[in-house]
Amino acid sequence: MSRALSLAETLAKEGNLPDQNLLELIRDRDPETAGFLKEQAAARRDEIYGRHVYIRGLIEFTNYCKNNCYYCGIRRGNGRAERYRLTKEEILECCREGYGLGFRTFVLQGGEDPWYDDDRLEEVVRAIRERYPDCAITLSVGERPRESYERLFAAGADRYLLRHETASESHYGMLHPREMSFSQRMECLNTLRDIGYQTGCGMMVGTPGQTWEDLVADLRFMKEFRPHMVGMGPFLSHKDTPFRGEKSGTAELTLYLLAIVRLMLPETLIPATTALGTAEEGGRRQGILWGANVVMPNLSPKAVRSKYMLYDNKLSSGSEAAESLYLLKQEMESIGFEITVARGDSRMV
Ligand code: SF4
Repeated sequence: MSRALSLAETLAKEGNLPDQNLLELIRDRDPETAGFLKEQAAARRDEIYGRHVYIRGLIEFTNYCKNNCYYCGIRRGNGRAERYRLTKEEILECCREGYGLGFRTFVLQGGEDPWYDDDRLEEVVRAIRERYPDCAITLSVGERPRESYERLFAAGADRYLLRHETASESHYGMLHPREMSFSQRMECLNTLRDIGYQTGCGMMVGTPGQTWEDLVADLRFMKEFRPHMVGMGPFLSHKDTPFRGEKSGTAELTLYLLAIVRLMLPETLIPATTALGTAEEGGRRQGILWGANVVMPNLSPKAVRSKYMLYDNKLSSGSEAAESLYLLKQEMESIGFEITVARGDSRMV
């Protein structure tokens, strides 16, 4: 038996490994260990959530952003991005359509757009809460002051996604300009949890400069933070960013890490991300087979979907599109899963 396989067995039994062993498990991976992790992660997910896949309607409501993350296609420095911003009415129309299709979670995602200040965003959240009391509202709008998070929570938002991107401060500095701060990102995550949001974090796999140690730091951070959700996708480069031409992350390593996360945090919700589906044909299906249990089809108006281009060739049609839910349903059924029309709260406490 390989060393990696014996470490994987310990991980499956104990849900944790010392840092050095996690590093070996990742670095020295082999096909047999990968197969074992996949099987164990899927079994843990089945035990806790069954063979259900939760669906979230993703509304990408603004691609304006005041930040300049090196990897992101909608960074403020990209003068070629065609900017758009949905109005409250347009967002509500997306929700109306989504509700009719069966969605019971709406995810409002956007860049850090100053136009959507607290008053405006609060108005949107309040309106969705009033019209759809049985739905969960997830926000993914970046770093904001505590008062802002509190106001949005009081207005009816239940969940918040804020990817930490990397749990290593030095690596954070390679992905972001100096004006952005690692400690602030971490503080925001703690604040969100403290307020009572179901909080999601996550990272990209294969970003420039990422080391095995950085990935171990991510796993350790998440194990301690105990997020309700973990979003992970391979890094995919965008042609109009400083990272153009950088090597992309692989679906292979992302899936391997996904299985490790499922074993370390069995109760967390893990989406099979669009990036995974973009990196590899059938990637999203693979995500589910490796232990994920959420998919987030795109509910944004068709006219703006191609403008929310975080990385090149991002998928937004076919089974990625909310209106083609039947395709997603077929895709999931073909691998023995059922789409669940429910809020799908995290079992993480
Ligand atoms: S990753 Fe987020 S915060 Fe950074 S530039 Fe892109 S949208 Fe803005």
